[in-house]
Amino acid sequence: MDLLNALVDKGLRGESPTREEALAVLATSDDELLDVVAAAGKVRRRWFGRRVKLNYLVNLKSGLCPEDCSYCSQRLGSKAEILKYTWLKPEEAAVAAKAGVAGGAKRVCLVASGRGPTDRDVERVSETIAAVKEANEGVEVCACLGFLSDGQAERLRSAGADAYNHNLNTSEATYGDICTTHDFSDRVDTVREAKQSGLSACSGLIAGMGESDADLVDVAFALRDLDPDSVPVNFLIPFEGTPLADEWNLTPQRCLRILAMVRFVCPDAEVRLAAGREVQLRSMQPLALHLANSIFLGDYLTSEGQEGKADLDMIADAGFVVEGTDTTTLPEHRVDELVSVRRRGAGTELPPNA
Ligand code: SF4
Repeated sequence: MDLLNALVDKGLRGESPTREEALAVLATSDDELLDVVAAAGKVRRRWFGRRVKLNYLVNLKSGLCPEDCSYCSQRLGSKAEILKYTWLKPEEAAVAAKAGVAGGAKRVCLVASGRGPTDRDVERVSETIAAVKEANEGVEVCACLGFLSDGQAERLRSAGADAYNHNLNTSEATYGDICTTHDFSDRVDTVREAKQSGLSACSGLIAGMGESDADLVDVAFALRDLDPDSVPVNFLIPFEGTPLADEWNLTPQRCLRILAMVRFVCPDAEVRLAAGREVQLRSMQPLALHLANSIFLGDYLTSEGQEGKADLDMIADAGFVVEGTDTTTLPEHRVDELVSVRRRGAGTELPPNA
């Protein structure tokens, strides 16, 4: 297929497809699906070999959010029967993280529901980052705390955070349909702030909320423009008690096409298979490893994932290997970009370890 040959050539060079080409990937037929997976798999292997990075979520604060994101079980007015609690203590988070690291996770994602952290919350999370890092040598820590205000990204970076997650979720044109309490540009601003502070940006999307192919391509291109290092691809978990409870729009084949499209658009980024893989990809999950080079291990924020052992078996059975802490996930050219420009110590107003 000329389309796929062209996309492989571009992907191997680290280039993205045109918008029309990305749309054409989503429009391929089921008969062409294995060719699509094979083509995007070549791009995946060019940049990440057969490695799979494991990530582990620790939900520091669950539920009770004042925002109204319609896909989210923690939203304002959610009737979903989820756990609700406020701020795990640093030592509790460190213990939770240890379970994931013992299972092979090299990144721990510290997540809190809410619009964004107060300065006191940032202090609290800074203590948690220190506790997690002390108890788990070499682990990467990503924070996901909502919108950041002035200086908070820098404070998290100074506290030892490696990355910050803030998803764009859907296209700018449809953002108002899934949330009324903030808008797309708020999300873009926070990803930019995280990047500017020297944090590795993690930003992705949710598929299955009733969006069109054009919306999916729009959000993928918006992500490409922000150039995050990690791109989580979530498939909607239609939670009872949320407005999207009846939105079962995806098939495993469509999920694979979406992952392939994101891989072509962001060829050298860590594409992470995230929430919803069990319920939406179901028995097709192993094929997704040919497209994504990263997955979450174990449970999600408010729902249970498959057993860690089942994930490890799936990775081995599909011929992939779990990425160790001695391996750098990102291709060399992206790691170089992560080196922070010094803004402290001699010649500045900040002390060396500020
Ligand atoms: S996605 Fe985040 S901001 Fe939106 S309702 Fe859920 S916890 Fe709140």
